[in-house]
Amino acid sequence: MRIKNSRESNSPPFQDSPGRAGAQETRQDGAAVEAVIFPDAPALQERSLDAWRRLCLTCRRCSLRQEAKGVVFGEGNPRAQILFVGEGPGGEEDKLGRPFVGAAGQLLDRILAAANLAREEVYIANVVKCRPPGNRQPRKEEIEACLPLLQRQIELIDPAIIVCLGAVASRALIRPDFPITRERGCWQELDNRMLMPTFHPAALLRDPGKKKAVWEDIQLVVKLYTQICGEES
Ligand code: SF4
Repeated sequence: MRIKNSRESNSPPFQDSPGRAGAQETRQDGAAVEAVIFPDAPALQERSLDAWRRLCLTCRRCSLRQEAKGVVFGEGNPRAQILFVGEGPGGEEDKLGRPFVGAAGQLLDRILAAANLAREEVYIANVVKCRPPGNRQPRKEEIEACLPLLQRQIELIDPAIIVCLGAVASRALIRPDFPITRERGCWQELDNRMLMPTFHPAALLRDPGKKKAVWEDIQLVVKLYTQICGEES
């Protein structure tokens, strides 16, 4: 993975993008990727997000699955230009099999509404897809086991923008030592996608003083999203 932050990049973020324009190539490579992640599963008959979701729902690659009710794959527009990535499912998410439906999810809904973004317009997922017991942070080995599932999910959705909600998502997708407090709000570029690290909504519930910073970050996201939509129309 190649990461640049926006201060290192001289080019506009959404010029021609080999990764995103090469979707057909990605689909062909997908079979090999899926076989590595799930070597014992029958080959998928189609390269689609839904087929990948069904396969991921059978996942037992780490011990988190033992105590979780099920795999919370994620939800939203399968062709979303904005993907929000959180840490992992909590109790409510585990119960309902949906991401961000607890208190933090309700706050995320309010942030989306304030930004004039419909939840159905974007996609929402997590770094780990099974609930860590007691809502503890996912461990390194659990993140390592689950990250390939998210990476394949990202390829299939092919979003232009990824919003990393919190330190766990930022460290999983940007770099392991990413300092969320110091570098939130600063665009990062990853494989021709733009990543915006910001605080997790749960952090805002604990410390409402962080809301202003998140709102500033989301406004940057909306600005770029509007620009992309304008270029595509
Ligand atoms: S957390 Fe991820 S890797 Fe672990 S069992 Fe669940 S889906 Fe599989």
